[in-house]
Amino acid sequence: MLFVLTIINAVLIITGAFSTVNVFALSKLEGWYKQVMSYTYIRQIPKARDILEKLPLPAALKRVKSEKDKEIIGVFSGAVDKLLLIIGPCSAHDEEAMCDYVVRLAKIQEEVKEKIILIPRIYTNKPRTTGIGYKGMAHQPNPLEEPNIVEGITAIRTMHIRSLQESHLAAADEMLYPDNYAYLEDVLSYVAVGARSVENQQHRLTCSGLDIPVGMKNPTSGDIEVMFNAVQAAQAPHMFNYTGWEVKTPGNPFTHCILRGAVNQFGQSIPNYHFEDLIKVAKIYTERAFVNPAIIVDTNHANSNKQFREQPRITKEVMQSREHSKILRKIVKGFMIESFIEEGAQKASENIYGKSITDPCLGWKDSERLIRRLAELS
Ligand code: PEP
Ligand code: MN
Repeated sequence: MLFVLTIINAVLIITGAFSTVNVFALSKLEGWYKQVMSYTYIRQIPKARDILEKLPLPAALKRVKSEKDKEIIGVFSGAVDKLLLIIGPCSAHDEEAMCDYVVRLAKIQEEVKEKIILIPRIYTNKPRTTGIGYKGMAHQPNPLEEPNIVEGITAIRTMHIRSLQESHLAAADEMLYPDNYAYLEDVLSYVAVGARSVENQQHRLTCSGLDIPVGMKNPTSGDIEVMFNAVQAAQAPHMFNYTGWEVKTPGNPFTHCILRGAVNQFGQSIPNYHFEDLIKVAKIYTERAFVNPAIIVDTNHANSNKQFREQPRITKEVMQSREHSKILRKIVKGFMIESFIEEGAQKASENIYGKSITDPCLGWKDSERLIRRLAELS
């Protein structure tokens, strides 16, 4: 048989009809796919079930998370009138500094608990504009060493559990690779789909099965329709292929919009946090059949033009817009803020403790001041 296939392929190659790879013959050989696809298979990644069994979330923490979930969902359902602050570094590259930061947040959470819910941003999967650069702890548990995804997956779960243990604050992460959500499904209380992923079907369908709030960012182009289509898709039930299973989801009624600003064709940032932008989004919410209309304003990225020090001013303006309009007071549920211990950003090789290695962040003192100020304003 192999002989016949080889002859057929030889004829195809000679006639130019099949000039590259002898697929038929290779397919009969062990490991053929490795040769055809040019991938080097490094390590097999454990299934989520195995990782969750190896690193279980202790029962006491399950209760902490479930209480937090109820409160956060309450904000989206309208039952809880508190401001949500999804706050933390652009990327969590160092477990020590990340947990140190979250414990600091927990102290302020006590102070402002009547007005504000703090959700630490513990972002472990980083999208890159050109695909080049640090891709997050899930890829590179040590940013100065080679990527190691098997270790990365263990590292992100360990960090998330430790952060919940030490702070009792329930965290947010980005859904960049939908399959990776399965490794954190029992520890997260908020998920965001980024500007570069929001048009992707697998992200939208995966979010339709989450029982925690999901924020869909507007794409980098600023197209509001793409964001709303993502919300609509995730609020609807679906059947699809997820982590090797055919699954059925009920739709996630707490999927909502995150406004992060846009970038035009000349690379200039176009903010979308001003009063008129918010009113436009609120109007679309009333025209289309969504449940639990909500907006979170991302104060960094193209809204601040990555001028991280602008974030307090942006929150102040949005709080004023909320004061000015009853509908915005109801729909604008909070902010996403990039903040860490040291202000700004650094190259990973500089290795400064508590300083972002991706987007520049507000420093700790300014962040503390901002949280207190927002508690006064809300
Ligand atoms: C982020 O939140 O750090 C991020 C990458 O956001 P965006 O998808 O809006 O660029
Ligand atoms: Mn960022």
